[in-house]
Amino acid sequence: RSLPDLQAVVSEIAAEMKARPDRGKVADYIPDLARADASAFGMAVITGDGEVALGGDAETPFSIQSISKVFTLTLALGMAGDRLWNRVGREPSGSAFNSIVQLESERGIPRNPFINAGAIAVTDLILSGHQPREALGEILRFMQFLADDGSIKIDKAVAASEKRTGFRNVALANYMKSFGIIENPVENTLGVYFHHCAIAMSCRQLAMAGRFLAHSGINPATGHRVIQAQRARRINAVMLTCGHYDGSGEFAYRVGLPGKSGVGGGILAVIPGTASIAVWSPGLDDSGNSHLGRIALEALTRRLGASIFGD
Ligand code: GLU
Repeated sequence: RSLPDLQAVVSEIAAEMKARPDRGKVADYIPDLARADASAFGMAVITGDGEVALGGDAETPFSIQSISKVFTLTLALGMAGDRLWNRVGREPSGSAFNSIVQLESERGIPRNPFINAGAIAVTDLILSGHQPREALGEILRFMQFLADDGSIKIDKAVAASEKRTGFRNVALANYMKSFGIIENPVENTLGVYFHHCAIAMSCRQLAMAGRFLAHSGINPATGHRVIQAQRARRINAVMLTCGHYDGSGEFAYRVGLPGKSGVGGGILAVIPGTASIAVWSPGLDDSGNSHLGRIALEALTRRLGASIFGD
């Protein structure tokens, strides 16, 4: 399916977002994230036939944070297959990204791979049998390969900042370890987790990396298969139901696309069969999702008639 006037729509939305006074609140529980420029807004849309539409600060790198969890899930499914689902569930949590309460009632098994506990369990699976440095290198190289861009890096200052202050994640990991869900030393698993959350990418790079999810597991530029079509479909399903924490219902209602947010203010979303999209605006709403990012995606799907639930 083609998207007529795509660049005009993206430019229009970027200009509208830049002019809005309501920007949400930049995350500061990881001290280094508070350095982000609250006035920034970027958007990139990349279609299956290679059209690239950019708006605003689409080339500025930002901390992808939890968006990395989509890619670690992809890697872990490639390594462990459906065995992965013995360690982590796939139901929406209805609670905050860093919630600990459900772990108790579910014997240490996190509800889904996108809340922090679930993503830490997925990272642990990738780490098993490897040195932390190798596992991290594997994750970073996977991002570079998908985005076709060897310049993508980890922001070490952000990773160190989270390591100094990530007490809640330390608690989640230790709690899961007490149930045998974490196999490796907790500090190794968390070291890899903090560093993959600290990968810095621009909207353009992120939309490039997400192309395989919009195209049944295939990179449309090369024809190379990244994962089976069924896996891509299922990752999209988990993004739709769990990608925005307890704001996932609202995101599906307003935007109508599978999407994954991060506390750096980024969102990766896909129009299945058509396009991969990344938006970024650092100010967050009460659920920890990008405030203007969500509003911009809502405007985009409305103008393009691209919601998966109909036009
Ligand atoms: N690294 C962040 C954390 O674990 C990710 C949270 C997010 O992006 O939602 O707190």
